[in-house]
Amino acid sequence: MTSKVSDCIFCNISPDQYVTENDLAFAIRDGFPVTKGHTLIIPKRHLADYFDLTAEERIAIAALAHECRSDLMKSDPAIDGFNIGANAGASAGQTVFHVHVHLIPRRTGDTAEPRGGVRGVIPGKQNY
Ligand code: 5GP
Ligand code: ZN
Repeated sequence: MTSKVSDCIFCNISPDQYVTENDLAFAIRDGFPVTKGHTLIIPKRHLADYFDLTAEERIAIAALAHECRSDLMKSDPAIDGFNIGANAGASAGQTVFHVHVHLIPRRTGDTAEPRGGVRGVIPGKQNY
C-alpha cells in the first residue's frame, strides 16, 4: 500500500524503531528531541504536505497522538502539557518532506517563560 522513497529518512525507519503503529501511521521518538519523549507521528504513505493527507490518515495520526500522549504521561508523571503540530512547507520550517506531526511533552518549569507556546515559531512573537 505504501510506495517508499529510497532517500527519505522516514520511509526508511525500521519497524523495530516504532513506538506504536496502526494501519496507516506509526510513531517514533524524535532523533533530536526538543524535550524528553518528543515523538513524531508519521503516515506510512510517503507524501510531503500535511494538508494532502486523506481523512483516514488524519484520523490514524490523531489516534496515535492520543495513544502516545497517554503512554508518555503514564511513563513520566512530570509531563503536564504538550505542544502538538506540524511544519507544513519549507517556509514554515519543515526539514523532512514526509509528513510528520510533532508531539512534544512539556513539564512545568522546563522553560522559564512558556507563555505563547507554538507562537514561538516566529522569534519574538511567542509571548504576547
Ligand atoms: P521538521 O523540521 O521537518 O518539522 O522535523 C523533522 C524532525 O525530524 C526534527 O524534529 C528532527 O529532529 C527529526 N529527525 C531528523 N532526522 C531524524 C532521524 O534520522 N531519526 C529521527 N528519529 N528523527 C529525525
Ligand atoms: Zn518518505
